[in-house]
Amino acid sequence: MQRELEEPPGDKPPQSSPRAPVWEAVPDNLWNDWHWQMRHRLTSVADLMRVLTLTPEEEEGVARALQHLRMAITPYFASLLDPRNPNCPLRRQVVPTIHELQVAQADMADPLSEDEHSPVPGLVHRYPDRVLVLVTDQCASYCRHCTRRRLVGAKQQVMSLEQMNRVVSYVAQHTEVRDVLISGGDPFIMSDRHIEYLLSRFRALPHVEILRLGTRVPVFLPQRITPELVAMLHRYQPLYVNIHFNHPAEITPEVKEACARLADAGIPLGSQTVLLRGINDCPHIMKRLMQLLLSIRVRPYYLYQCDLSQGIEHFRTSVAKGIEIIENLRGHTTGLAVPQFVIDAPGGGGKVPILPQYLISMSEGKAIVRNFEGRICAYSQPEDYHHQCQNDCTYCLEESRCRPVGVAGMLESDQVVLGGEGRESPAPQKGSRRQGSLRVEPLACPVSLHREPSLQ
Ligand SMILES: *Cc1c(COP(=O)(O)O)cnc(C)c1O
Repeated sequence: MQRELEEPPGDKPPQSSPRAPVWEAVPDNLWNDWHWQMRHRLTSVADLMRVLTLTPEEEEGVARALQHLRMAITPYFASLLDPRNPNCPLRRQVVPTIHELQVAQADMADPLSEDEHSPVPGLVHRYPDRVLVLVTDQCASYCRHCTRRRLVGAKQQVMSLEQMNRVVSYVAQHTEVRDVLISGGDPFIMSDRHIEYLLSRFRALPHVEILRLGTRVPVFLPQRITPELVAMLHRYQPLYVNIHFNHPAEITPEVKEACARLADAGIPLGSQTVLLRGINDCPHIMKRLMQLLLSIRVRPYYLYQCDLSQGIEHFRTSVAKGIEIIENLRGHTTGLAVPQFVIDAPGGGGKVPILPQYLISMSEGKAIVRNFEGRICAYSQPEDYHHQCQNDCTYCLEESRCRPVGVAGMLESDQVVLGGEGRESPAPQKGSRRQGSLRVEPLACPVSLHREPSLQ
């Protein structure tokens, strides 16, 4: 960084990744135009063979797996693939193989039960104070490990205006929603105007405190992150962008530039990574990825255990591998480089954090912990600690007007059993969609609470 700052500006052309031979003659202005990249994506066996030497498994995979999830690879990303090595970690993420046709016993079409938690099409309301909006089923390139492969690329469309209005009015009516997460598909394949329309509609709702965008465009199509897009996003802060990164080789000069533009506009960047067999299931690869992400101002956020979506068992690892990776990060490198490892629990269980065991034992007086080196230490707890809160400050008073939820609720109430039949669930029950007006019961703060005056 220091060195780059010292260089006189304009001396050297900005660094760029090498192009595959078929695109060497394309003028820079076209190559750097995201529309050109989108129009020239590889979508067939014949397209791929102009760039890669295919294995029989891949050739058959492209021929047959595309009935389940379409293929598209931007020329920019295709140029990063090793043309001769089918095990190239980037290639395996975008080139289908026949393994996708195998449906494992544990596989599910909709492992996260998103459809069940969808009160209006295109919106998933699973957690108390936030919603997920799926604004399009299109992506710049299609990840072969896509968790939403039941939907993605199927209709090739962006949410209609009418559908969007229904989503916005749902959020408008649900004043407990203070966080709107816009994903897909990939929201950044939409036009600036379309994205701005969405952001402005949500931003106009006084109870929506933050907006989030989930994307892989900075990795597959960094040319899309134009100064115009970034200037528009800047107008809708506080807005967070989370980017799907899986491998250190994805961090090219173009990706650095795209992330720098976003970060320079004051947009906080996070990463989401999927633990994938033969691609990044190695503590050394993962550590380097997380460190490099920090160097381009992307804060590692989640590391996901691969979901149970149909046809992706060949990408799945044991849960143990994720724990081993976290064990190799915490204490060994910058704390900011340690993502939260989660299993997105099947059946709509939501994200469950998984950690190595650090708390060894505990008594009233002591907590015995072990550190990353295996050193065991005793922390003495204060002798006369008792909870002194009178529950009479504004925060507590407002909170107590909401029904307590889940295990946290058990700590504050007389409830002795949680789970099983008749359980408390923040999810709408099956069939509630048919009843028309859906209430997500335990979330129901009667009014918008916890509003800091400064946020209004
Ligand atoms: C992941 C997810 C969110 C956001 O979860 P955070 O832990 O707040 O990042 C919200 N809704 C759904 C349905 C999700 O899957």
